[in-house]
Amino acid sequence: MIIKPSSVNSMAFWGKRLLSYAKTGIEHCHGKTQERRLIQTNISVFIAVITILVFNLAFVLLGNPGLMYSGLVQLPFLLLLPLVLWFNRKGRRHEATLTLFLLVMLDAVSALMLAQGVTLGLQYYFLMFAVLPASYLDAKHWPTTLLLFLSNILLFGYFEVYGWQAHPSIAEVPTFTITLLRIIMVGSCATTVLVVILISEYYAAQNEQELQYLADTDSLTGLPNRRAFMGRLERTIKDRRSFSLLIIDVDHFKQINDTTGHQTGDAALQFLANQLNACIQGEDFAGRIGGEEFAMVQFCASPLEHLVRAESLRKTIASAHPDLGVGPVYLTVSIGVCMATPPVSLITLMAMADNALYEAKRSGRNCVQVAAAKSESVPPWQAVT
Ligand code: GH3
Ligand code: MG
Ligand code: MG
Repeated sequence: MIIKPSSVNSMAFWGKRLLSYAKTGIEHCHGKTQERRLIQTNISVFIAVITILVFNLAFVLLGNPGLMYSGLVQLPFLLLLPLVLWFNRKGRRHEATLTLFLLVMLDAVSALMLAQGVTLGLQYYFLMFAVLPASYLDAKHWPTTLLLFLSNILLFGYFEVYGWQAHPSIAEVPTFTITLLRIIMVGSCATTVLVVILISEYYAAQNEQELQYLADTDSLTGLPNRRAFMGRLERTIKDRRSFSLLIIDVDHFKQINDTTGHQTGDAALQFLANQLNACIQGEDFAGRIGGEEFAMVQFCASPLEHLVRAESLRKTIASAHPDLGVGPVYLTVSIGVCMATPPVSLITLMAMADNALYEAKRSGRNCVQVAAAKSESVPPWQAVT
């Protein structure tokens, strides 16, 4: 099948329209869960309207008076459904959800009692209306959720046990057509539940991603925090590749804070994070592992290259004199480098890089000192600690 570019464009156009419609009132939501519930409610209005219209069209095409009467009975509810969107647009999510469930329940009750009876299986909708509120309503509205659950279960139970007489003309509809309509009706319930589950899953995945980002990221600099950096360092050690670990500590940072203020200190840390990011090549990675302490893993072809890159980073920072709102700030860093050839333990690696940093501080700061962690015969259960 050949898909024309014009049909792709129009699909994209309608997709965007549907998405902006689904987000009606999203500006009033606080957090992903509220957004998810709002989108579920709006999409449900869309599904309800489409379902009613499709069945009405089928009833008109079949030309059966009883079925057409059933379609007619549903029209007032169809016209009232946009009220749900109106409530959401006003930020009244609870009223919107309540209106949705009351309208669809009344719609089903009226169509069933006034025209269809239980012939087409309309009573199965009550099962769906019983369970969905638990996903749509906030936990604090549990009495409403419970009430909706009980009333829908009672409605389903009543109609399933006692049945309800259909409009006499519906008896003339062929058995095959009735079976087909029943299948479509139950199928539409299953489709609605599927859409609701898919929206929930999408939002659960987004929430998880957001939490993971927050758990791994330093909020001031945007760099990976200590936990995330150490995790990645552990994985690098397990991969048994040669690399160098740099521990970078700002010189006399306390003085910068004391003389120019804490805010300028924060800006200086952000400036340093940008410098580290600019220095990253290929698979290198960096992180903020302490207050004014950063770390970086560099993958280089030779030991000399490790040194050259560390020295170049130091020089770039020392000569930058960034203007952080208080005139040029003179920032320097001391760098401890440990060249690692796995297998080596994380503890040894960190200790050696720290010792090199200590040496750099001792020898006057604003310099690079190197240590080399030799390959250790570390048992696998101790290789990463
Ligand atoms: P040295 O050259 O020996 O490393 O001296 P230093 O002053 O840099 O080291 P010290 O450990 O004495 O002081 C570190 C300072 O870093 C103290 C602390 O207030 C500051 N600091 C830690 N985290 C932050 C932060 O997030 N923002 C700001 N502005 N300052 C911070
Ligand atoms: Mg310091
Ligand atoms: Mg420090």
